Amino acid sequence: MVLTTIGSPLEFEERPDPVPGAGQIRVRVEACGVCRTDLHVVDGELPDPKLPLVPGHEIVGIVEALGEGVDAPALGTRVGVPWLGHTDGTCPYCRSGRENLCDAPEFTGYTRDGGYATHVIADAGFAFPLDGFDDPVATAPLMCAGLIGLRSLRRAGDGGRVGLYGFGAAAHILAQVLRWQGREVFAFTRAGDDRSQQMALSLGAAWAGASEDMPPSQLDAAIIFAPVGALVPLALKAVRKGGRVVCGGIHMSDIPQFPYELLWEEREILSVANLTREDGREFLKVAREAGVKTTTTTYPLAHANEALDDLRNGRFQGAAVLVP
Ligand SMILES: [Zn+2]
Ligand SMILES: [Zn+2]
Repeated sequence: MVLTTIGSPLEFEERPDPVPGAGQIRVRVEACGVCRTDLHVVDGELPDPKLPLVPGHEIVGIVEALGEGVDAPALGTRVGVPWLGHTDGTCPYCRSGRENLCDAPEFTGYTRDGGYATHVIADAGFAFPLDGFDDPVATAPLMCAGLIGLRSLRRAGDGGRVGLYGFGAAAHILAQVLRWQGREVFAFTRAGDDRSQQMALSLGAAWAGASEDMPPSQLDAAIIFAPVGALVPLALKAVRKGGRVVCGGIHMSDIPQFPYELLWEEREILSVANLTREDGREFLKVAREAGVKTTTTTYPLAHANEALDDLRNGRFQGAAVLVP
């Protein structure tokens, strides 16, 4: 499913199977999650995507061909292909353990073709082995919503009371990790979104309410997954002195002006960009130990436009997953 023009629907296209170059693998896609970032790409909210482009960066599949010089992952094994597709390995960020901030990165489904397809090419060193993850559909949302969620959580610190603004794919995974870690979850959704609030409570949230509501007790940290800048001052209001507000998305509407007193008393606002491979390995370990279970709605690959539309309009709970 190919994006040829920003703002237009994806088009179904038949192509020959891609051939992996040196250091690359070809993966037969079993499932690909639909991430909010894909919406930002097709809507033109992120600059300079490769065009034409196959979107999708929550890919689970089977290694089907190895390029020159690749000896792992092995043929026939299941791997995950995430957003971070390639780094230069030489810039100051890569050399200081922050490859998520690489100066010359490539991103799956943005600057290179992704997983809204039957096959995808990936750099062998950037695919995660998925031994023990037997359900490709259930695993696909972990590849971005999960591991960027965990990176957001690390930025939030280890306080016991964590607010999650926007209870979609990332929050429904992170809530399970937080409960497993023994922390309290406070879920904030659009006013009147009873289904998302119910889902949060069913996953062990201590409280669920509207984003404009104040939680019953002050939060140690808040993570904002909804791409809505107006949530930043609301979240600042809900965190205690010295608390943190983490913006977990790649794009957000403008943050409105707010009084300095909301930030004062050493409250902090942070953002999260991309992932490191270390994040991925750590998250997959946590997901397995915590027994994270995803809620998914599947769509046939050719219905990718419908899945994007349903995400845009909040028509499902949890995560959408495309199946070729
Ligand atoms: Zn770099
Ligand atoms: Zn994503």
